[in-house]
Amino acid sequence: MKEKLKEIKEQAEKEIKSLEDSEKLKEIQVKYLGKKGEITGVLRSMGKLSPEERPVIGKLANQVKEEISQLIEERKAFLKEREREGELNRERIDVTLPGTRPPVSRAHPLTLVMEEIEEIFLGMGFTIADGPEIETDYYNFEALNIPREHPARDMQDSFYITEEILLRTHTSPVQIRTMEKVAPEVPLRIIAPGKVFRRDDDATHSPMFHQVEGFAVDQDISMGDLKGTLLLFARQIFGESLEIRLRPSFFPFTEPSAEVDISCVICGGGGCRVCGQSGWLEVLGAGMIHPRVLEVSGYDPNKVTGYAFGMGVERIAMLKYNIDDLRLFFTNDLRMLKQF
Ligand SMILES: [Zn+2]
Repeated sequence: MKEKLKEIKEQAEKEIKSLEDSEKLKEIQVKYLGKKGEITGVLRSMGKLSPEERPVIGKLANQVKEEISQLIEERKAFLKEREREGELNRERIDVTLPGTRPPVSRAHPLTLVMEEIEEIFLGMGFTIADGPEIETDYYNFEALNIPREHPARDMQDSFYITEEILLRTHTSPVQIRTMEKVAPEVPLRIIAPGKVFRRDDDATHSPMFHQVEGFAVDQDISMGDLKGTLLLFARQIFGESLEIRLRPSFFPFTEPSAEVDISCVICGGGGCRVCGQSGWLEVLGAGMIHPRVLEVSGYDPNKVTGYAFGMGVERIAMLKYNIDDLRLFFTNDLRMLKQF
């Protein structure tokens, strides 16, 4: 009987250790330890044994029972752990897979150009001033020497809110507002970037666009200072080889007034389609601040002089980036905007 128990144990051990399916462990448990199992069979046949042998065999049978139990538990734990590992392997996250990148935003080309213009003038000692986009007739026209029936008003037809209040047609009102505040203090060197509004809408005009106004007031400021400042600016934004020229023009708030051209950034002055074969591109208007404008703002035109200029930011950006339709700035087409 000892031999039989030993055999059972060895057989069970072999079966358990080769088992791959934890469900089958239950069958093994029944086969060896169950009521009709092999060990029970041994115990039942103990009646044939002598009284001396019975406790010895009984003890051994229980020992084998426990050992088999133990083996089953161990195998169960082993198989469970292996299943868990398999699950983890199947569900493993591949950290080398590329993730979903959030789209990165960038500055609008007009913002880039505006910031560049600001940087250049800050470098020349100018400071930045701001003014309201909803303006009174007085600051937008009257104080700038454009009375009610002046034909210059037709060129700047605005959006009126009331008869006296409108969306500003240029950044020049900031000139008056700033001078009013600080007069008769000199020197004054200001740029005023911002949005302006006019009733225009085509490939080269938008009802809303951006201007940068610049002006300086001091003793003995001349056209020469204006030209030198604008040449320095134009060369910094378009390139060192650039030339500028001033052509006589008319603005009600400057005297004398000039249109400022730069040598064509496309052909370098030789003549091309963009510059209409002239070699020059018109980029801004400028002049010496009209004595009346100085006067209404609190300056004595006999003691100080000043110059002023205004440029369209879209125009500068179109030339700088070679963009041929102004409306591209405002249609929010990512294919265009992503290039900057
Ligand atoms: Zn050209």
